[in-house]
Amino acid sequence: MSDIINNLNIILHRMEVACRDSGRDPNEVKLLLATKTVPADRIKVALEAGQTLIAENKVQEIKEKYKSLQSVPHTNHFIGHLQSNKIKDILKYDISCIQSLDRLDVAEKLQQRLVYEGKKIEVLIQVNTSGEESKFGTHPDQAIELVRAVSRFSNIEIKGLMTIGLFSAEIEKVRPCFRLLRDIQQEVIAQNIPNVSMRELSMGMSGDLETAIQEGATIVRVGTAIFGQRIYADSYYWDETKA
Ligand SMILES: *Cc1c(COP(=O)(O)O)cnc(C)c1O
Repeated sequence: MSDIINNLNIILHRMEVACRDSGRDPNEVKLLLATKTVPADRIKVALEAGQTLIAENKVQEIKEKYKSLQSVPHTNHFIGHLQSNKIKDILKYDISCIQSLDRLDVAEKLQQRLVYEGKKIEVLIQVNTSGEESKFGTHPDQAIELVRAVSRFSNIEIKGLMTIGLFSAEIEKVRPCFRLLRDIQQEVIAQNIPNVSMRELSMGMSGDLETAIQEGATIVRVGTAIFGQRIYADSYYWDETKA
């Protein structure tokens, strides 16, 4: 378990260096622990070490770990593909932000359910900035339209944008993805849409968090570099054809 603490310290250091190098205040950038496939006792180690923000990709996994994690204060986000038939379920688990909203029909159903339950929820709009067909997220050209449409749902509070960068060892091919997300953010801000905040840019993971921070990330989502390699291929969580 001490591997988790060591890894956490390395990540926090990488974040700090990246902030310093790009002239940013380290307090502007939050660390989110991506906990898919990680057992609750290992997540607890990170929470007990002072981390507060975690996120799952599957409602089933939230459900399985929910009780075990209740003894440690923390905030839950959701970063997986949200299916309409899971909306009712996901609202049972104190998720404060769904980072992966990318479809109007899902937003519509979410709004209906929120009204029914008398709740509100924060969301980020997920944008597919890499152009990879297998990735979730709205097309960059349709992002602003989606933001505008979702902004009309009074129980849904848009707080920013999320993306998964291109998978590439060549970081300069990943950077344009993050830059595109920031450009969209700036365009949305310029349009001054009521009920829309663009405070958060959730981008950057284990391999590319420095680049994301340089390009303006306010939330980096890290799994592997803290908890170790996962046994499932990421396609299990990310590929539209398999999810
Ligand atoms: C798994 C996951 C991450 C973390 O990826 P790592 O490479 O393990 O750091 C970030 N974002 C999303 C949406 C994920 O599913």
